[in-house]
Amino acid sequence: MARYTDASCKLCRREGEKLFLKGERCYTNKCSISRRNYAPGQHGQGRKKLSEYGIQLREKQKARRFYGILEKQFRKYFDMASARKGITGENLLQILETRLDNIVYRLGLATSRPEARQLVTHGHFLVNGKKVNIPSMLLKEGDVVSIRESSRDSEKFKDVREVTESKVVPEWLSYDADNWTGKVVRLPSRQDIDVNIREHLIVELYSK
Ligand code: SF4
Repeated sequence: MARYTDASCKLCRREGEKLFLKGERCYTNKCSISRRNYAPGQHGQGRKKLSEYGIQLREKQKARRFYGILEKQFRKYFDMASARKGITGENLLQILETRLDNIVYRLGLATSRPEARQLVTHGHFLVNGKKVNIPSMLLKEGDVVSIRESSRDSEKFKDVREVTESKVVPEWLSYDADNWTGKVVRLPSRQDIDVNIREHLIVELYSK
């Protein structure tokens, strides 16, 4: 399975903001953005004036990196969003949010999206009672996500719980901590999605 292999913090520095790719570290003063908020590389600290295309491209790259998606798949999501009724940019964000790895992260069952992706791939989760290992699986209203019984007592999930205990689950999801089970109550609207992404720029880029 293709994935990013570059240092996560470099991606944040390239985009000039936190993409929360490293779990707990992202909330501490060890975060690279707090210490070196300029683009990586020799010319990272130089002035840069982006063209309109450059601005649109950066916004798309930021969204891809935030959700951990490669170009080909991201383009597929865009086509899927265009084919749906409603506003394409908002549809795109809705699709990205309903990926299984994102929902695992949103429920507080992983400390970051990359970790959620790895835990799903390793087969720790059930969707509607069936074992799944596909992070890109898109969930729909009413779907139920739970941690497999055999995984619940693992040190990994004890650690995750400690870190995410105070995490607020978004309104479009519900979470039953006693049973390690979450549910998609409804599909998220744009207001539910607290990400700093200007989706209209991505639509403009792909519509050229
Ligand atoms: Fe990004 Fe987290 Fe690294 Fe900070 S610690 S730069 S938020 S991945």
